[in-house]
Amino acid sequence: MIDLLIRGASLPDGRQGQDIAIRGGRIVDVAPGIDAEAGRVLDAGGHLASPPFVDAHFHMDATLSLGLPRMNVSGTLLEGIALWGELRPTLTREAVVDRALRYCDLAVSKGLMAVRSHVDVSDPALVTVEALLEVRERVAPYLDLQLVAFPQDGYFRHPDAAKALERALDMGVDVVGGIPHFERTLEAGRASVEALCRIAAERGLRVDMHCDETDDPLSRHVETLAEQTLRFGLEGRVAGSHLTSMHSMDNYFVSKLIPLMAEARLAAIPNPLINIMIQGRHDTYPKRRGLTRIPELIEAGIDVALGQDCVMDPWYSMGTGDLLDVAHMAVHATQMGSQDDKRTLFDAVTTVPARILGLEGYGLAPGCHADLVILQATDPAEAIRLRPARLAVIRRGRVVAETAPEIPRLSLEGRPGTVDPAAYAPRHARQGGA
Ligand SMILES: [Zn+2]
Repeated sequence: MIDLLIRGASLPDGRQGQDIAIRGGRIVDVAPGIDAEAGRVLDAGGHLASPPFVDAHFHMDATLSLGLPRMNVSGTLLEGIALWGELRPTLTREAVVDRALRYCDLAVSKGLMAVRSHVDVSDPALVTVEALLEVRERVAPYLDLQLVAFPQDGYFRHPDAAKALERALDMGVDVVGGIPHFERTLEAGRASVEALCRIAAERGLRVDMHCDETDDPLSRHVETLAEQTLRFGLEGRVAGSHLTSMHSMDNYFVSKLIPLMAEARLAAIPNPLINIMIQGRHDTYPKRRGLTRIPELIEAGIDVALGQDCVMDPWYSMGTGDLLDVAHMAVHATQMGSQDDKRTLFDAVTTVPARILGLEGYGLAPGCHADLVILQATDPAEAIRLRPARLAVIRRGRVVAETAPEIPRLSLEGRPGTVDPAAYAPRHARQGGA
């Protein structure tokens, strides 16, 4: 007896007409025409069934705080940090928890079921840490929340940050963070990368640093991050977030840097929405895009996951909780427009971040957790193009969110009465086609 049987799904790898059998919160079989009795049958109608979206970079302590205590007028990273510094002393645990839970409701409705969130440890009272540890526990039935101890005001620059970071890790925060480009000098930034990698090695933790989130081509902390990863034996457990300075770096330097990153198995986590919005602010024209070298990193075999970073907070006034918005921006900003490129960028918001976070039981194979999302689209490239309705979001075999298909009605002489956006999938586009 099967708990839930999904009929007639398309899968991200291109298989069509697949049934997915779920029992005890796990996927037990994926095949065409499964013959089994089921407690509930869900007809996917040829739509795409994907493992859930994973956001590899977020700030859940700041989300939905837009306008508190005022708006970011310059639109820069630095004013955002200053604004957050004004807001932070007024935060209460209840308010942070409430905003985070509201955000997670929205995220789940979009099929987002795992988030790596940085949590600011600059305030020694650690209100944000206490709040997000509570949130991690409360959302666990429907969302995996991984927390990064993030010294927003600088690990060395803020006098209390080092102690507060260690205390946050003692309290159960999962990952070691950092922000080397915000330290006072290049040397202090380099030293912070070393100190933080050492802490991670000693504690057996992963590392995820905000790294080189600037247009300054001489911000090269990613090089140190890769070198220290090798030195401390942290290969495959370290991520550099943003890496926007790579956009502006000299090509010769990058030709040496990318192989070093690959050797250290350093993951890269660009955040296309905010990077496009916040970088290039000191340029007149031409204006740099300020997004790291995504296609080149992927080409070198480096894990690249796309994060959301912010939803309606001091740094970014937009955001919807939808990782397909992020992939959609990445297609444009990186000019990765072929069908194959789009499939690659779909992986960058699903399977790749799942690997970077080290999620257990993620995927659509038998034995994996029965966590999946059914979209009103036929394949990953179409999912990015349409950012369609999430028809069903399933967590451990239970439907936790549903959206009616978007089928606009038409009143046009001599034309059909309805439109199904998913029916416009290109018939002639083949893999590799532009
Ligand atoms: Zn961030």
